[in-house]
Amino acid sequence: MYNNRRRSRSRSPARGGGGAPARGDSRERRNGRVGTGGGRFAEGGRSRRGSTSRFYGQDPLKTLEAWKEAQHDEVELSEDQYREQYDAYKRDYMAKLEAAFFGAHAAAEWFRERYGPREVAERRADLRAWAHAEAALLAEQLRRAPANFLASVALSPQAGSDGKWAEHDAAAPPAVVGRKRSAGGGSGGAEEAFDGKAIAGHGSRCIFIRRVPAWCTRALLQATIESEMGEIGLQRLALSDAARSRDNEYTRSAWCVFATEEEARTAARRLHKALTYEQVAPEAAAAAAAEAAAGGGDAASAAAAAPPPAPRQFTFQAFAHRARGSMQLDKSMSYASRVAHDAEQAVALALELDEEKGLGRAARDGEERGAHAATCARLDLACAYLRRVHMYSYYGAQQCMGEGDLLGENGGGAGGGDSAKAPQEEDESAKRAREEQEAALRGDGTGERVDAAAGARMEEARGSVAAAAAELATAAAFEAAEAAQLDVWLAAHTLPEEAHARCGIKDCGKLFKDATFVHKHLKNKHAAAAEAAVADVAVPFLRAAFDADPRKPLPTVPLDIGESARGGGRDRD
Ligand SMILES: [Zn+2]
Repeated sequence: MYNNRRRSRSRSPARGGGGAPARGDSRERRNGRVGTGGGRFAEGGRSRRGSTSRFYGQDPLKTLEAWKEAQHDEVELSEDQYREQYDAYKRDYMAKLEAAFFGAHAAAEWFRERYGPREVAERRADLRAWAHAEAALLAEQLRRAPANFLASVALSPQAGSDGKWAEHDAAAPPAVVGRKRSAGGGSGGAEEAFDGKAIAGHGSRCIFIRRVPAWCTRALLQATIESEMGEIGLQRLALSDAARSRDNEYTRSAWCVFATEEEARTAARRLHKALTYEQVAPEAAAAAAAEAAAGGGDAASAAAAAPPPAPRQFTFQAFAHRARGSMQLDKSMSYASRVAHDAEQAVALALELDEEKGLGRAARDGEERGAHAATCARLDLACAYLRRVHMYSYYGAQQCMGEGDLLGENGGGAGGGDSAKAPQEEDESAKRAREEQEAALRGDGTGERVDAAAGARMEEARGSVAAAAAELATAAAFEAAEAAQLDVWLAAHTLPEEAHARCGIKDCGKLFKDATFVHKHLKNKHAAAAEAAVADVAVPFLRAAFDADPRKPLPTVPLDIGESARGGGRDRD
């Protein structure tokens, strides 16, 4: 039984999470359906036989053959009976795995960003604001220098990538205005070679921090960067989707966008080897201990029973970001009929996504200009538009969750620039995701996959009004539940005293005019304790969202293929 986490660190291509279909995967397909969404499987047990490591509290999942071997029934069962019992075993296994997985990760920031009722609703709003700002920027760039712009979005390698601006709109340089990004979104920036395909800043104004551990929150990361950078402000901080590193302990990649190339170079130097510590809130910990002790016993004994773990630390590995080259697509994707089909489909998808995000006239402008261009240029423009405005990778056949996910999809930070000892490869998880994606694109037929993803996304867009309403309703229900829980806590910590009221927190006990003032005081002065008191309100909401996710980011499940399939086991029997 070998440890999945340890394996994922090795340099050799991972069988489960890697590009090639895992052996266990095909075996699972022969055995029948997996029984749950998001499950991935890899044969385990060979390389670390004898090790007793468990996987979320369970032994590796037995294949049908291994499971049969383990049965010692007196009566021989029919194949159908075996299959039926095995399916029940597998369902039970996956249910236990999901429960343990939820328990292990529900508190993590990445998990809350994916499933938290407030976070989900906020993400939709953020993406909408981003789309509006970015669409306006793109339309302006296109309007000011149409030929230049179309050249820069060209996907074919011979055009647009070699700085041949002079041949196009010599009189009108590309309109990358140096406006700072407003709170709403958009990516305007300065001092960067113009690339209409990319969000501004994703070129030379960006640095990459690899393998940010799951415990390191966005706020902690940002605070550390800001303190290291001093007077140099950070424009944007984007984190990759932790679900992409499911076999790498949910580490994330981080990208920092600065206002200028010079600042980014400075940042790569200053941030490399910077150290950050996990923050433990002493007040919250003490309050939680006090709460636990309130039923019986005292705070001191409760604290002694569960000493807080030592804060973890993380040393930055920061490098100049270099986006990887364009994806190699199958030749068939360049046939004229396919290009025509893609142009039509990409434009249709862009229109659906515009509709979803309430984009009106400004966005259509670009589309109308593109309509007069050749088919190839229309397709290029639509792909750039989808990527920048909607964070949708047309040929990558996927919707990204946000800017960081898009950057991750586009490859990690290859070495280069001023960083000493820059890694000569992409971040492992990004690389694996890319290999997997490219293998899938080639193996299953690129066109089919691109079409399926575009079709599914259009379908989703058409249902987005209902989905958005449902998200808002869930967020509202959550907030109501949270408010109710807070009221209970406030009441429990407000001690009436004759005509006045006293704060009920141990070691405080301040006297106020009345209960209203105590409540205000509790929310302000004991904010961490108040937060801790309502923390568990989110749990059922998180669980419901997790259960409903058809693509749960479960790690690759180790498979036990059984002694006889493993070989060698027979000798000892
Ligand atoms: Zn108080």
